[in-house]
Amino acid sequence: MSARLLDGLKIRDQIFEELKEETRKLTAQGVRPGLAAVLVGENPASQLYVKTKIAACERLGLASWLHTPPASISTEQLLQLVRDLNADNNVDGILVQLPLPAQVDAKRILEAVDPAKDVDGFHPVNLGKLVSNRPGLVACTPAGCMEILRRYQIPLEGANAVVLGRSDIVGKPMALLLMHANATVTICHSKTRDLPEVVRRADIVVAAMGKAGFVQPDWIRPGATVIDVGTNKVTDPAEAARLLRNFPERLEKFRAKRNVLLGDVHPDALQVAGALTPVPGGVGPMTITMLMSNTVKAARWRRLPNAAVGGD
Ligand code: NAP
Repeated sequence: MSARLLDGLKIRDQIFEELKEETRKLTAQGVRPGLAAVLVGENPASQLYVKTKIAACERLGLASWLHTPPASISTEQLLQLVRDLNADNNVDGILVQLPLPAQVDAKRILEAVDPAKDVDGFHPVNLGKLVSNRPGLVACTPAGCMEILRRYQIPLEGANAVVLGRSDIVGKPMALLLMHANATVTICHSKTRDLPEVVRRADIVVAAMGKAGFVQPDWIRPGATVIDVGTNKVTDPAEAARLLRNFPERLEKFRAKRNVLLGDVHPDALQVAGALTPVPGGVGPMTITMLMSNTVKAARWRRLPNAAVGGD
C-alpha cells in the first residue's frame, strides 16, 4: 500500500486564496500589508528566493519593497536600513535574506528587526513567545508543517512525535509547536543513540537533518505520518541510483537533469507510511506561504490591534 500524499502545493493554493481575501479586506480598511525584503550582495540562490517572495506578494495583493545593498555593506549601515524599515509604518514585515556577508554581524541584524515585523520568526522575543505558547510570529517552515498536519486532520493530541534535527529555525520550533498541540515529543540530533528504535515509536516523524534519504523505510512504523523537511540536491549518480531504485521515472529525469531534489526520508518509505509529504511539493511550498501569512498577520496585529478579521 502506498502512503497518502500530503500535498503542499494544494494547501499553499488554499491558504493563498484565504490570504488574498484577507488582504483585500484589510486594504479596504486602509491597511495594505507590505513586506520589505533586504537582499545583500548578488548570491544567485538568494536572488531567486527573494524574487519568488516578491512575486508571491504581488500575486496576493501585498505591497513589497526590495532593498539591494552591496556585498560590501557594514553592520552599522545595515543596522541603519533595518531601523529605517522598523520606523516605516507601511512596512509590516521585514525579511533579511540569509546568508549575510562574513563582515556583517548577522545576529545583531536579526535582533534589530522589530519583533512585530519579524515575519521570519527568528527574533528572540518571538522565540520566547513560542516557548510560552503566546501569540507571536512563528518560523515559517515549522509553521507550514503544522498547517499541513492541521489541514489534513492528522491527530496530534497524545501522539508520539519524533523530530529529527534541533536547529533554531526548524527542529526546535517544530518540537515546541507539536508539544503545544499536545503531542508527546522526542527531539533527536546527531548524538542521539539508537535513532532507528526512537523513530520506530513515532506516530509522526518530522525529518529536518539535511541528509538525503537518511531515514530508512524500516524505521517508519507502518501507518505513521512522515513530514519530510529535507531539501537535498543530489548530484551523485550512484547515490541517485541507490535512493531511486524503485522510481525509474525519477531516475530517468535525474539522468537528463543530472540532479534531483530528495528529502531526508528514503523514497521507499512511501510503501510503509500512512501519510507523507513528497519532496518536492510537500513542505517546500509552505515556507513562502507562511511568510505571506505572517506578513498579513503582522499587519493586522500591529495596525488593527482591536479588529477581528478572520483567524488569530
Ligand atoms: P541544520 O541547521 O543543519 O540542522 C540539522 C540538524 O540535524 C542538527 O540538529 C543535527 O544535529 C541533525 N542531524 C544531522 N545529522 C544527524 C544524524 N546523523 N542523526 C540525527 N540528527 C542529525 O539544518 P536545518 O536548517 O534545520 O535544515 C534541515 C533540512 O531542512 C535541510 O535539508 C534544509 O535544506 C531543509 N529545510 C527546508 C526548508 C523548506 O522550505 N522546505 C526550510 C528550511 C530547511 P546536531 O544539532 O547534533 O548537529
